[in-house]
Amino acid sequence: MSLIRRRFDALIIGAGGGGLRASLQLSRAEANVAVVSKVFPTRSHTVAAQGGVNAALANVLPDNWHWHMFDTVKGSDYLGDQDAIEYMCRVAPKLVYELEHYGVPFSRLDNGKIYQRAFGGQSQNFGEKQAARTCAAADRTGHAMLHALYQQNIRAKTHFFDEYFATDLIKNEEGAVLGAIVVSIQTGEAMLIEARTTLLATGGAGQIYRTNSNALINTGDGLGMVLRAGIPLQDMEFIQFHPTGIAGIGMLITEGCRGEGGYLVNGDGERFMERYAPNAKDLASRDVVSRSIYLEVKEGRGCGPNKDYVLLKLDHLGADTIMKRLPGIRQSCLTFLGIDPIETPIPVYPTAHYCMGGIPTNRKGEVVMPVKDTPEEPVPGLYAAGECACVSVHGGNRLGGNSLLDIIVFGRAAANEMIEHMKENRYRLPMNEASVEKAMDRLHRWDRKGEGETVDGLKEDLKKAMEDYCGVYRTQELLDKGVEEIGKIRDRLPNVYINDFSRTFNTARIEALELENLVEVAMCTVVSAAARQESRGAHSRVDFPKREDQQWMKHSLYFSEGDRMDYKPVRTKPLTVDSFPPKERVY
Ligand SMILES: Cc1cc2nc3c(=O)[nH]c(=O)nc-3n(C[C@H](O)[C@H](O)[C@H](O)COP(=O)(O)OP(=O)(O)OC[C@H]3O[C@@H](n4cnc5c(N)ncnc54)[C@H](O)[C@@H]3O)c2cc1C
Repeated sequence: MSLIRRRFDALIIGAGGGGLRASLQLSRAEANVAVVSKVFPTRSHTVAAQGGVNAALANVLPDNWHWHMFDTVKGSDYLGDQDAIEYMCRVAPKLVYELEHYGVPFSRLDNGKIYQRAFGGQSQNFGEKQAARTCAAADRTGHAMLHALYQQNIRAKTHFFDEYFATDLIKNEEGAVLGAIVVSIQTGEAMLIEARTTLLATGGAGQIYRTNSNALINTGDGLGMVLRAGIPLQDMEFIQFHPTGIAGIGMLITEGCRGEGGYLVNGDGERFMERYAPNAKDLASRDVVSRSIYLEVKEGRGCGPNKDYVLLKLDHLGADTIMKRLPGIRQSCLTFLGIDPIETPIPVYPTAHYCMGGIPTNRKGEVVMPVKDTPEEPVPGLYAAGECACVSVHGGNRLGGNSLLDIIVFGRAAANEMIEHMKENRYRLPMNEASVEKAMDRLHRWDRKGEGETVDGLKEDLKKAMEDYCGVYRTQELLDKGVEEIGKIRDRLPNVYINDFSRTFNTARIEALELENLVEVAMCTVVSAAARQESRGAHSRVDFPKREDQQWMKHSLYFSEGDRMDYKPVRTKPLTVDSFPPKERVY
């Protein structure tokens, strides 16, 4: 069957907040834009974001972008690139007001201004006291943002390919990206989308862990596509474990609960965060709170019959606050736990939540990689934004509320750069048919029905191995074993057949393609973690408990060929202000 071919100026893979902010910018600039999404756009994972988006609006407490920048650099454990962080924090207020004008129904203060709540790691005056920087639409901020962005895209006439799955990038021999192969999930039919510029906005990869806060669609597809194209992934050892997942389920209870005054207690009824973070207490940054919960449970001070979780208390906040500010959280507790947080504390435990690492980009959203003797050069025609990208504003640990900001800031920045690129490169490059054939061959490898290993079976083994060997606390022994185990799982991939006919063949084939991406991302994560012999941000090594700036203040790069590691310097120089030099991180 001949391959369907479509041509666009720009191809955006992913219709979450990152992809939709980029496509809107491009469509408004009269570019011919295709957005491909494996789910209907408003079902993208951004819809699940609860707590809010950071911007120093100073509506509740004094604030400015420079304090926001300080908190973000400190939160990143000094691994974040300070040029990108300055850019993000400076532009944040403008882009939040822009969202308001797009129709995001932010919650309001009595004076009519946008409501802002306190989140972890936020401070006034460079660490002095708590700030309130997170702009919220109750506890459904991502939902409000995604719907507003989708509506604006419809108005701007963006072309959507809903429920199409991107499998591989198409590159020419000089390394320029020319588009991608996508498959209709409904019909199984493949299509080549040729584009002068391609943006990856495929979100996170939380599904590499068994207990996680992510949707089933977060399988790291863009990360797998990039690795197969010979491009490395950056800082993948840094996985954020959110402190408050519903115990045993992993579903998220937003940090906004603690921002509204909720707090954690152990099995003795003690507010244990006072011991670990005397100033910030329950609003210390996420890596600190997750480790504290883990230690409380490990040392026998957990709650419940098995002492394997702690409790998040909201019952003192009163019904009014909970109904007004946290209605979605209350609903989740009623539905999934059968408890009402107005009266009963919520059992919580850390859950895999967010990938700080991803596709290496500069602050313009161009994908960059080492080429010959240069430390990094843009990959022509390829851009990345959102959770799949590593720009890097989150470094070793992301602050709550900074991801919804990252996706709109760098979705827009990448689109602006794509527009510039298209102005300077007016002609389409010839298609590389060899690269198309290679991508089609890989797709057809998954046409195999029959008996053998199942997709679900291998996936379960993978997730368990990641949980066992690459969790909150890590050691060399565990990580080396993890590399070995994930290696064995990778070797089993050719034995997997599509043999679960409880769903259609097309859907089952998509799950097999996702599995291949999950395996690649898991391998990359565990190899990168085994190599970094220090503790920084979310990467906690029991055998190397200290941060080692001399040797390790650098970004890691993992290449899938030969599971090879390389490193590159952190961009410590901001755009206009002085650098924040590394200091011990205390809250
Ligand atoms: C429960 C939860 C709550 C959160 N709350 C907050 C919060 O309050 N504040 C905050 O700042 N951050 C929060 N985050 C993080 C934040 O929501 C995400 O990091 C962010 O929304 C990611 O946006 P994105 O555009 O990068 O990707 P996503 O919104 O995940 O979108 C990815 C898109 O890529 C598409 N896609 C993926 N693979 C393919 C493929 N192979 N082919 C075609 N399409 C593909 C998907 O269909 C989707 O459209 C939260 C995260 C979770 C899990």
